[in-house]
Amino acid sequence: MSIPFSRDIPIGDGYDLVVCGGGPSGIPAALSAKRAGLKVLLIEQTGQLGGVGTSAGVSHLLGGRTKDNKHWCVAGIFKEIVEDLAARGGALNPVDIEGEQFSPHGWTGKVSNLTYGVPFDPIQMVALLDEKMLEAGVDVLFFTAMVDVVVEDGQVTHVVIFNKGGLLAIPTRAVVDATGDGDVAARSGCDFVKGREEDGLMTPATLMFHVDRVDQDVLASEIYNTGSNRFKELIQDLRDKGEWTFDYDIFITVQLQEKGTLMVNTTRICDVDGTDGRSLSNGMMQGRGEVSRLFALMQKHFPGFKDARIKMVAPVLGIRETRRIVGDYVYKVADVGDVLNFEDNIGFSGYGWDLPDPKKPSYQPMHVDAGAPKLKRMYTPIPYRVLVPKPIKNVICPGRAISVERHVLGPLREMGPCYAMGQAAGLASLQVVRDGVAFKDVDTDRLRDDLKVVGAVVDWHE
Ligand SMILES: Cc1cc2nc3c(=O)[nH]c(=O)nc-3n(C[C@H](O)[C@H](O)[C@H](O)COP(=O)(O)OP(=O)(O)OC[C@H]3O[C@@H](n4cnc5c(N)ncnc54)[C@H](O)[C@@H]3O)c2cc1C
Repeated sequence: MSIPFSRDIPIGDGYDLVVCGGGPSGIPAALSAKRAGLKVLLIEQTGQLGGVGTSAGVSHLLGGRTKDNKHWCVAGIFKEIVEDLAARGGALNPVDIEGEQFSPHGWTGKVSNLTYGVPFDPIQMVALLDEKMLEAGVDVLFFTAMVDVVVEDGQVTHVVIFNKGGLLAIPTRAVVDATGDGDVAARSGCDFVKGREEDGLMTPATLMFHVDRVDQDVLASEIYNTGSNRFKELIQDLRDKGEWTFDYDIFITVQLQEKGTLMVNTTRICDVDGTDGRSLSNGMMQGRGEVSRLFALMQKHFPGFKDARIKMVAPVLGIRETRRIVGDYVYKVADVGDVLNFEDNIGFSGYGWDLPDPKKPSYQPMHVDAGAPKLKRMYTPIPYRVLVPKPIKNVICPGRAISVERHVLGPLREMGPCYAMGQAAGLASLQVVRDGVAFKDVDTDRLRDDLKVVGAVVDWHE
């Protein structure tokens, strides 16, 4: 059933570019476009910038360093933020690490592929991001959601936003859809798919929480003794005794920027659809219930957690997968193995396959399937064309809603590569606004040159 709904709404000030979403892809899009001279509005539905990294408590940037920790494979605004945050004590820079296995940058060496991340304090990250926006002069509207668009002749002419002031139509020349969910692409009629081909199911969600007062030396020595940081035997034992009743059977934690403070990335909530309000609400409630029960088990049984304390439970559910746009080119799993170079490379990811099965949350199909191609290089290239939806001409979609087969999200959905894509989207907007071309017709040689000027990595290190 439906009812017609139509009303006049006020028109706000016009912009060259509206960036919808202030996460790892929206932040660099807004900053790079504004620094290059465009008039930019950034709208964000929460009250802070950082996206999943801050609001969903995923305070650990991955994919920005090569797997040998020798090079930045994402630089530009990503590196600037890492370095500025590290300089004020809000992050640890992987450049400074000594190669130990038990490391706040992840369990390095053979123990895990969480290598060479950037752990950070979300409170300091949010403050730094505010400063960056103020310095650059980006107009930021918090507590504001993109709810619809007006489309004429294949172009978005207005972004319809909602906040406490009501509905407002913002005239714009171009739009960066950095919502992670492809909200703008979907509302403007672009082609998209969602979830697994056979049943539409998506990889599980996680409600993240941070704990402090962990005795990390006790935890580390147990991991060194057993050679495993996932505690599978302990979990099996608890399951046999009826104490562990969750769908998952691995325990994942990462140290944040302070020893003894850890992010617990362990809950896995199946059957959540991040584009459905009811499903998200149910997922939050289930997640909070699991966090309480899991933490009680951690204190009772897990080495080092006896005196630990919950510091924060994320107020936003961590969603790994929803819509993916379908552009002229869809980046295939096979291409990740085969393709060594794209002429329109705009960045890289230093991370690997990682998209748990929707129904078996501790099972990683790409880690065990013989069909998964070996990554031939230490990092994966990102072609510009995966950011471009069709048929709308002035929308671009960096971040986790890109045009890829779903397992290609493994390397590309991490925050490092999202920063690379966002910076490319921001600079591509210059051509769209100034030369009046569609995003699909952007001169990618020129874009790559513009990216090099601002320090982005667009060519392989040899
Ligand atoms: C549980 C979990 C663990 C992860 N672990 C890691 C990790 O350790 N390291 C790593 O690098 N990556 C990790 N990732 C992946 C990574 O965090 C995300 O893929 C990445 O943040 C995606 O960036 P994005 O900018 O596309 O979207 P997001 O980070 O989701 O940002 C989108 C922003 O847009 C806003 N928004 C959404 N819709 C609207 C709207 N309609 N109007 C206005 N604003 C809107 C949101 O509030 C949000 O701030 C993890 C993800 C999850 C869920």
